[in-house]
Amino acid sequence: MWAVRGPLWIVSTKSIIFKFKLGPIFFHTLTRTKLAIVFSLAILLTTIATIDLDQASYGLQLKDSETQCREGQVLVFRAISNNYVCVFEYTAERWVELGIAEMVEQEVQEESMKNEVQEDSMQEQNVVYDDGIFQLVQVAENVYSFGNPMASFSLVLVTDEGVIVGDPVNKNHSEVMLKAIRTVTDQPIKYLIYSHNHWDHTGGGQVLKNEGAIILSHIDARDWLLENPNQNVVVADEVWEGNLKEIILGNKTLELHHFGPSHGEGMTVFYLPEEKIIFIVDIVTPKRLAFTIMPDFSPMEWERTLIEVEKLNFDTAMFGHKRALGPALEVKEVREYLQDLRAEIFSMMQEGVNPFMIPSTLELPKYQDWEFYDEWLEMNAWRIFLEPHMGW
Ligand SMILES: [Zn+2]
Repeated sequence: MWAVRGPLWIVSTKSIIFKFKLGPIFFHTLTRTKLAIVFSLAILLTTIATIDLDQASYGLQLKDSETQCREGQVLVFRAISNNYVCVFEYTAERWVELGIAEMVEQEVQEESMKNEVQEDSMQEQNVVYDDGIFQLVQVAENVYSFGNPMASFSLVLVTDEGVIVGDPVNKNHSEVMLKAIRTVTDQPIKYLIYSHNHWDHTGGGQVLKNEGAIILSHIDARDWLLENPNQNVVVADEVWEGNLKEIILGNKTLELHHFGPSHGEGMTVFYLPEEKIIFIVDIVTPKRLAFTIMPDFSPMEWERTLIEVEKLNFDTAMFGHKRALGPALEVKEVREYLQDLRAEIFSMMQEGVNPFMIPSTLELPKYQDWEFYDEWLEMNAWRIFLEPHMGW
């Protein structure tokens, strides 16, 4: 047991300061939990600040000329290092432009080509703005997704009394989003609503606030942002509490749902009942494993939340990462992945496998085609494995 007196400061590489008024008290469970969450986030931010997400974690392991890269990636030959690697198309094009790599012509596997064609056609036919990096994709009448598959997506809802935006993401994202919105409507930006507290989704709100938008978030997200200020994040002007808030603007009805803890604070699922569309951030990223060590996720509460989300009557899910949209089924798939992973861990324990060997030896072939299967499965398994043992 040990005690901390006075404020404790933890400074990340981005000089973001977290302040805890711990006082002369012994660590209790809640304090340890907060510290653990903040520590994980600090590690994550430090990592994100120092790597190029475009390339890291991905197929920089050596390949050969026959390697079939995963969905969205292409095989390139790097003359300088005389090797083959899988990278995102965007990166490959950049490397070719710079003259440091050549694309490798390959016969694409039939199955993955079918998927790509399906996904591409779903998005391409609805793209209404494209500057080469960001796209505004029309999902339904007056409902749009704005963003970039390498980073994040926002919701854009146009009504005849103004525009509602879900998540500003960051300054650059919001500035381009504003430009894209102006290509489809002159309506003023009325509301900017945060999906949850995390800085990677709440940054850049000032851009839309300058346009007159009222910033709204769940009270739990607002309180966290007050305690954890970030110079790029504007704290909400207005808050909502409880599990449901209905916003009616012009001809549109938008429901904000909060199902309790799952990821971050004040996690909000946006629901358009007439259009049967949801906008769901971070707790569903289609056909991708859970993010690394599942930072600030409570896996069991996450599963429970997804079961609640599945009860909403919707056909289409808009996502915060990877892809603008997909069918409702993809929400169920993520919930099943979490349950399958938990079930596999327990069955290995029952078989008598050394618990500390489970994460590194576990396999879930059903999900082997999902993005980051090789890279993140072990980290996901550790998180699920430790939760019932530590209560976190
Ligand atoms: Zn988050």
